[in-house]
Amino acid sequence: MSKVKVFKFGGASVKDAAGVRNVFSIINQYRSDQLLVVVSAMGKTTNALEKVVKAYYERDEAVHTLFAEVKQQHYAIMQELFPPEHEIFPQINDTFVEIDWVIEEEPQDSFDYLYDQIVSIGEMVSTKIVAAYLNQEGEKTQWLDARDAIRTDNTYREGRVDWKTTQQLMQQAVMPLFEQYPVVLTQGFIGGTSENFTTTLGREGSDFTAAIFSYCLDSETMSIWKDVPGILTADPRLFEQVTKIDRLSYKEAIEMTYYGAKVIHPKTIKPLQNKNIPLHVKSFLNPDAPGTVISDDAEGPYPPVVVVETDQVLLHISTRDFSFVAEHHLSHLFSLFARHRLKVNLMQNMAISFSVSLTNRSDRIAQLLEELEADFVVRKEEPLELLTIRHYTKPLIKELVDGKMILIEKRIGRTVQMGVSEIPVMRRKK
Ligand code: ADP
Ligand code: ASP
Ligand code: MG
Repeated sequence: MSKVKVFKFGGASVKDAAGVRNVFSIINQYRSDQLLVVVSAMGKTTNALEKVVKAYYERDEAVHTLFAEVKQQHYAIMQELFPPEHEIFPQINDTFVEIDWVIEEEPQDSFDYLYDQIVSIGEMVSTKIVAAYLNQEGEKTQWLDARDAIRTDNTYREGRVDWKTTQQLMQQAVMPLFEQYPVVLTQGFIGGTSENFTTTLGREGSDFTAAIFSYCLDSETMSIWKDVPGILTADPRLFEQVTKIDRLSYKEAIEMTYYGAKVIHPKTIKPLQNKNIPLHVKSFLNPDAPGTVISDDAEGPYPPVVVVETDQVLLHISTRDFSFVAEHHLSHLFSLFARHRLKVNLMQNMAISFSVSLTNRSDRIAQLLEELEADFVVRKEEPLELLTIRHYTKPLIKELVDGKMILIEKRIGRTVQMGVSEIPVMRRKK
């Protein structure tokens, strides 16, 4: 029996009817394979649904028009893909009605819980549409509810995967589907709790979903289809002279994504590395091109790779009584970072102070600062960008930090990381 291949199509690949047709044509090229296909919400639907949740939670009447827009965008795509009598129309309508019922009532539950129940609808409708289209075009496809395959705890918006149960569910509920269907299509980004509530895995989590399926199904390969030719030496939205990297090691890829390379979700690499499954990053615009292969057997030399993570905050934490910031203080600080679920990106300690760059979740930072107040004086600097250059050259560093102020810096081997801010424009003395 041939092994399963896992494909993931992100929002950009299914942003309109032409995108859905293109996904069909790519899948159609792999007719002899068994494919587990993960699909994200269409285009920018997740952002639009986040606005719906916010309006609903804040009891803002705009919730109804915002949700109507989301529905309209989907109906417009469906009208291009299906004849009017197709059963997909009532199916999608029923899916949207579930949210209509929710937003008619006063919000009773926590924001994070409501977020997951509402935002997950983006993936539910996109997968129903794409699966129906594949079937219409003669590609025998089984739609799968990812909540029946991926079990998480109930940390809403950041569901943590219960790997043991997930593996059992996949063997029982997913593998047998391939006996009848060459294509099984499911949602990225979502999971289900033991009580059948929907969870999400964190923004951009569909790549991670595909890796969970790859791991649990022992897939032969995993391919993520993007709007770029592969992994580039920097984000092409920020930099002009970027080049594609043909091969990358898992280690290189995990380091890049952990520090903010937006092309792959950082949690994607571990499950693949653990089972030695190669990851192909390919272009849905040019599917025959080789893209980038991430695997065990790729080691440098690499060109300089630049990663920029915006929205950082730098905290300078000093003891109030001149005591050292030694081990017991540090362990206390780290337990607070973990409890407030703050990601530590860069740090430096001195005798009586500790500086740390954290991902700026302002609500969580505010709670942290409150707790720190008793023992520490804290100075906050924002906005800050975290600039990571792997395999750096000195001229490149100079070029990138030109006109900026470096507030914190670390070099290990051939990697430099800097917390930088724009130099404030000085007011001229009269
Ligand atoms: P998806 O549609 O799968 O969600 P994303 O939009 O999340 O895809 O990721 C692809 C985008 O990632 C590209 O359009 C590109 O702008 C951005 N990107 C950031 N860093 C890189 C990089 N180093 N190489 C390639 N693309 C990158
Ligand atoms: N639709 C989700 C998001 O936009 C998940 C994903 O696309 O990976 O964050
Ligand atoms: Mg994405």
